[in-house]
Amino acid sequence: MIELRSGMKAIAVGLGKSGLAAVRYVHSQGLHVAVSEHRQQISAEEQAVLAQCGAALETGGHTLEFFADADLIVVSPGVPMDLPVLTAARNRGVPVVGELALAAGRIQVPVIAVTGSNGKTTVTSLIGHLLRSSGKKAFVGGNIGTPVLDWLCAPDEAEVAVLELSSFQLDAAGGFRPDIALLLNLSPDHIDRHGSFANYAAAKRKIFANQQQSDTAIIGMDDSEVMARAMPGAGQVLGFGMQPDCRAKVEGQSVRLEPGFTSSGAAEIYDITETRLSSLVNVYNAAAAILAARVFGCAIEGIRVGLADYQPPLHRMTPAGEINGVRFINDSKATNIGAVLAALAGFKQGAEKEVILIAGGRNKGGDFTELIPALHKHVRHVVLIGEAKQELAAAAEAAGIGHQFAADMSDAVRKSFAAAKPGDTVLLAPACASFDMFKNYEHRGNEFMRCVGELAKLG
Ligand code: ADP
Repeated sequence: MIELRSGMKAIAVGLGKSGLAAVRYVHSQGLHVAVSEHRQQISAEEQAVLAQCGAALETGGHTLEFFADADLIVVSPGVPMDLPVLTAARNRGVPVVGELALAAGRIQVPVIAVTGSNGKTTVTSLIGHLLRSSGKKAFVGGNIGTPVLDWLCAPDEAEVAVLELSSFQLDAAGGFRPDIALLLNLSPDHIDRHGSFANYAAAKRKIFANQQQSDTAIIGMDDSEVMARAMPGAGQVLGFGMQPDCRAKVEGQSVRLEPGFTSSGAAEIYDITETRLSSLVNVYNAAAAILAARVFGCAIEGIRVGLADYQPPLHRMTPAGEINGVRFINDSKATNIGAVLAALAGFKQGAEKEVILIAGGRNKGGDFTELIPALHKHVRHVVLIGEAKQELAAAAEAAGIGHQFAADMSDAVRKSFAAAKPGDTVLLAPACASFDMFKNYEHRGNEFMRCVGELAKLG
């Protein structure tokens, strides 16, 4: 456990939600706190917290002088760990840690931690929901909602914490040890900031690094990148997916848990068909979440009730309406290639292809040639928007399918509808970030839904 003593001096590097939580937490433990931020300006909310905590501030970069008398340095997710000030501090023996390392040993309840390239938010919120529908008091937070250090400042009555964790948080997780850890999948994302896929994958796998024999690791066994690497940590390993040795099997729109959780020795079937989780990616997510809930000791009935009334977060395979037999699906959160491949895998292939895909935006460093086989298999036509449209057009050509460019979302929706026939699906799954045309992925998804609504009015 990282030592925190009254009177020590901590410096938080980087603000934002997690940095502010770190400032509040170390202040609550009686430490002096200061903040070093690379931005020139900080927000009014940030200023108010610093004032409350009496925190000194440097902006516009990080200077050696500012760090000279630090006893502890807490870095926000995404701050490069090789900043010269951090290297110098480490050389002086000063601990340089992330929020999870600070939280390690201080969380008084069991922890279920979720990571992966895609599906984290869905699986984290679903596990929280299944726990609650099984009568357990759960805190759900981390990379979504309340940061873990804010929760530690004022812990509620939770008997279990479910945490969504990003690769950045895990990279600086120190001695953090979740009782149940999930790695859903691995596909390239944030490579611009991790430097390589290998570094990114290594950061994600730190979720298991401190696990002991009594802990559980839950992994997506259909994911070749997850399976290609030896497991760190000593916990029992349980898989989900379609592989024969999976403990939670994806079978069509059902999840089958192999015997072992009840004394009866019977397999358990969870039918997902009538739930809002029926798309293929979400059946995988349900399998992972059910497994975690059962390992934690939830009863079958409570899980079934939770699956039936779970509402997935918006912009993730969200139905957006139907016009003249053409379905519209909003997967605006599909900002990387892995998410698009997973979405497309749930649709018919070959002669029965039914997808008109709207894609494009700002490329996050992805290699669009990886989309070619799936475009060829599942997509009839693509409509392209944003900065990456030429690159995506090249992929569509290589896949042998037609493409059109659209000026904005309204144009894209109209062109997709014109290219569709009854029974088809228009899928917004951009494979790109949204910032070239929209404020964020939510704005892009809302705009898509608005345009579908406008089109519906025209009939
Ligand atoms: P994250 O928090 O990891 O970004 P989300 O639940 O917000 O995950 O979903 C992000 C995107 O990934 C969405 O486009 C969603 O449809 C897709 N997705 C969700 N679950 C999975 C999965 N298990 N595998 C691949 N893609 C998924």
